[in-house]
Amino acid sequence: MSRYWSRVVQGLKPYVPGEQPKLPDLVKLNTNENPYGPSPLAIHALRGEIGDALRLYPDPNADRLKQAIAASFGAQCIAPRQVFVGNGSDEVLAHVFLALLKHERPVLFPDITYSFYPVYCGLYGIDYTAVPLNEKFEIRTDDYLVRNGGIIFPNPNAPTGCFLPLSEVERLLAGNADSVVVIDEAYVDFGGESAIAFVARYPNLLIVRTLSKSHSLAGLRVGFAIGQADLIEALERVKNSFNSYPLGRLAIAGAAAAIEDQAHFERTRRAVIASREALVRDLAALGFEVLPSTANFVFARHPDRDGGELAAALRQRGIIVRHFQQARIKQFLRISVGNDAQCRALVGALREILR
Ligand code: PMP
Repeated sequence: MSRYWSRVVQGLKPYVPGEQPKLPDLVKLNTNENPYGPSPLAIHALRGEIGDALRLYPDPNADRLKQAIAASFGAQCIAPRQVFVGNGSDEVLAHVFLALLKHERPVLFPDITYSFYPVYCGLYGIDYTAVPLNEKFEIRTDDYLVRNGGIIFPNPNAPTGCFLPLSEVERLLAGNADSVVVIDEAYVDFGGESAIAFVARYPNLLIVRTLSKSHSLAGLRVGFAIGQADLIEALERVKNSFNSYPLGRLAIAGAAAAIEDQAHFERTRRAVIASREALVRDLAALGFEVLPSTANFVFARHPDRDGGELAAALRQRGIIVRHFQQARIKQFLRISVGNDAQCRALVGALREILR
């Protein structure tokens, strides 16, 4: 605390990201990064962008990237003006809260969800209600059919990995015509189903995506949103009142090339899904209860062992996973799906710890 801090800053409770340790050789399964590298075509495009042109500002509209994103949805017929891009989906989400979720009534999101949502509410002075998930850690649609200032949740949810079926998503959209429903599809490519087909029919739907997970570009910081043009215009108004150039030339070129490399995307996402299925089987064999996951991580607890202690014991063996000191989920570990060697190391270490 300092006397120079504004009132706003004094009251902030910032988000705490998973650590990015400087130690080499750690088995890093704590921030849901992709174990496989980005598309070689993206790397090639990034290299091609390094040169004299870096002296010039990038396209403030990132048209090249918006076109690539719109085209990638093929038959859904998304127009570039229905696409918003930002510096990671975290930045997109920040603008979403200010542009579309700050109203008289509280915004609704699950009690167990992405812990950045309440942080944005704190930053922008937005009232919210945390709606409890049921005992199986699922979203109950009926709880969201009340007057509200907006709704946001990840699908699949984080850190649970549980997916809300699209029939329920549609019920939620139809029952909330007066507020914006934001579906954060950060992890949807690992086995969920996108709500993208609803965009044409529901003017209150906004979908948020990231290239950090299924495109393996967490280090480039690119996220985007899809919705009808007036929702996107609201985001552009906030963005152009904040930072005209959130994406640099490298980010625009690399992200566009990654999105166009459909083959690499398919190959790596299938590999992650296959590793997840194997990991779930191995954890179950060790006695873990694993929530059904359609994400690139699993959420698991052991009936006889404390979650915090397991995380600490793994850490001693050079393996880091995420543990949340939060009611209802203290006994759980969130484990990112690594490559085969990383998954083997994790399962071997857990076997030893549990012995
Ligand atoms: N949404 C969810 C649900 C997440 O877990 C994350 C990753 N922390 C993000 C959004 C943000 O991802 P990024 O800013 O890397 O796009």
